[in-house]
Amino acid sequence: MTIYNVVVTSFNKIHFVVDDSLNFKIDHFIIKNGDNILNINHYEVCGNKFTALLNSTINIKKECFVIYENLKVKANYSTLFSSKEFNDKYYCNCHLGYNYTKTSTTFKVWSPAAENICLLIYKESEPSPNEKPERVKLNELLNGLWYCTIQTDLEGYYYTYEITVYDNCYEAVDPYTTAIGVNGLRGAIIDLSKTNPENWNYDISPRTRSFTDSIIYETNIRDISIHHNSGVKNKGKFIGLTEDNTFSDKNISTGLNHIKELGITHIQLMPIFDFSHKSIDEKNPTKYNWGYDPQNYNVPEGSYSTNPFNPYCRIYELKLMIMKLHKNGFCVNMDVVFNHLWHHIDNNFQKIFPGYYFRYYENGSMSNGSGCSNDTASENLMMRKFIIDSVKFWVKEYHIDGFRFDLMGLHDIETMNSIRKELDTIDPNIMLYGEGWNLNTALHDDNKACMKNSLKLPKIGHFNDVIRDVIKGNIFIPNDKGYATGKSNLESLLKNCIAASIKNEESNIGIFYNPCETINYVSCHDNYTLWDKICVSCENESLENKKYIQKLCNGIILTSQGIAFLHSGEEFCRTKNMIENSFTSLDNINWIDWDRKALFMDVFQYYKDLISLRKSHSAFRMNKKEDINSHLLFLNDMPQNVVAFILKGYANGDTWKNILVIYNSNKNAEIINIPYNSWNLVGTRDTISNSPLKIIKGSKMQLDPISMTVLYSND
Ligand code: CA
Repeated sequence: MTIYNVVVTSFNKIHFVVDDSLNFKIDHFIIKNGDNILNINHYEVCGNKFTALLNSTINIKKECFVIYENLKVKANYSTLFSSKEFNDKYYCNCHLGYNYTKTSTTFKVWSPAAENICLLIYKESEPSPNEKPERVKLNELLNGLWYCTIQTDLEGYYYTYEITVYDNCYEAVDPYTTAIGVNGLRGAIIDLSKTNPENWNYDISPRTRSFTDSIIYETNIRDISIHHNSGVKNKGKFIGLTEDNTFSDKNISTGLNHIKELGITHIQLMPIFDFSHKSIDEKNPTKYNWGYDPQNYNVPEGSYSTNPFNPYCRIYELKLMIMKLHKNGFCVNMDVVFNHLWHHIDNNFQKIFPGYYFRYYENGSMSNGSGCSNDTASENLMMRKFIIDSVKFWVKEYHIDGFRFDLMGLHDIETMNSIRKELDTIDPNIMLYGEGWNLNTALHDDNKACMKNSLKLPKIGHFNDVIRDVIKGNIFIPNDKGYATGKSNLESLLKNCIAASIKNEESNIGIFYNPCETINYVSCHDNYTLWDKICVSCENESLENKKYIQKLCNGIILTSQGIAFLHSGEEFCRTKNMIENSFTSLDNINWIDWDRKALFMDVFQYYKDLISLRKSHSAFRMNKKEDINSHLLFLNDMPQNVVAFILKGYANGDTWKNILVIYNSNKNAEIINIPYNSWNLVGTRDTISNSPLKIIKGSKMQLDPISMTVLYSND
């Protein structure tokens, strides 16, 4: 006999399945809740599925087992934890974490499952063999909220919680802590108001723009300045991005200076929250890791600070950097990874309330759509609350301007919409977007915050893998080509992408309902860099042609409708030496190689001028699908692999009446018909300009091989 899928569905109901229902002797069946045997009122039976209805209420502070002859199977509480019944009893809508004042500090932590919780107060920032903490027992309220107030000035002390739960005793860092000791092994009690740089209250985010005005530039704190020729003093640190007028020894701009020159609008930072000390030892950060392994969500990573031992330092320095970026006109978007934790057992959530914060299948196994062995259960109200609280904290405390949700498709729709709603009450211009992949997680497809549900996720953006793959080829097939790299018959797909991938019900192509929902990109930190992909898929092309392809790829991105996104370094053909997943590769793979900028100055100049063109012309940035429908017109009768369109009638208030954009991915020149007019040429495959390079009169023109051509006319 096997008994499986033992699930507590209600405080007085347990569901289970037996493999041999004919020989199942119901009177041999026992349910134990801790040491208590629960009295079964009756069973409901449907084939081999049984539901036991109990006379008493299950105590969730004790584990539940079903016992049958010599079998003992643990019951899974996760269905109960997501039920209304559970939420009515335990949902706790109060401020969690600690609240410091000079005279007292209050601590609050939520765990209805805990038998006992003690606050441990330490003088030292990290564990040492003979240290004896001060131990204070917390009080519990009926909803599982544990609290205490210490009537003294605790600034400078460290703390953890000691949780007794299900006959185990764990020491955990408060997930809500806003400061930590080195390596994030203890919470730090600090006065947050002392972390503000001078004039922080006057820091203004340059957020007032529609989402389609954004040109996002994804970078990494370490990569952007760690190169020996970055000219940055504080290499690999937050404050490295505050340094002005940095140059390489070839006198080319680097770091912040480079980003200013490039002219993007939003800097998206790969993880800046505290990630696992197992990935990077903050005391000796010689290893490399991207940081997609969250440890303390509400605290900056220490290896990016100049002194990870001082809990104030990382906070102060990150704020200093954000203020500096704001001052230079950049918004700062943060990559957040709420979909999994760095370790599925040894993490603070699991120690505080085992089984609550993660998503499980009925058989008790952990859902693993993230591929990191655990998915968080955003649908559970206290996990959802944690995510919302955290995002709001980063906005209010750090003035963050937008959030990129890692594996957003693992979260449920209601969570993402709740975040959007909360952000809107602070500032509707705060960006919210993520990876809307449809992943294999224990959540119904209709409930996943993935691209195919974009209709249910208004004002939330998705990385558009269709435009990415249409332009450069499938990311999983190295030598696969896309439109720009030489594959034919992609014109109709590409046209839909140019028009913000708006869903067309008739032709059944497209994904989105609004241009602010598509994050248009060809490459990001994952997979081959754009240059490496071009080198792999077009290995026999000349260097010159590869550069023209590199220009055409983001030429398309920066002239398409939607939100433009660039991977840092692609503006000078960044390579990672053909390494597809460089999350633990060394600096010499991941760094932005500033010597390379000197080698690909022409490509850099092209990207820079393209960005300037997009920023100067609102026709490229329409924010309503109705505008796209009425102002974007594709030209017919083009040769194969040529796509041409007009942004007509002063689209989106543009100063140019008609803008004609033509892509030619053929390796030969093409002669095409264009509407008869006097056209001002402003973009060729070599030059992008805001003022006319030459006038083209008539109804025919020649296109260069592998080129983007941009013209405008005010007639
Ligand atoms: Ca860390």
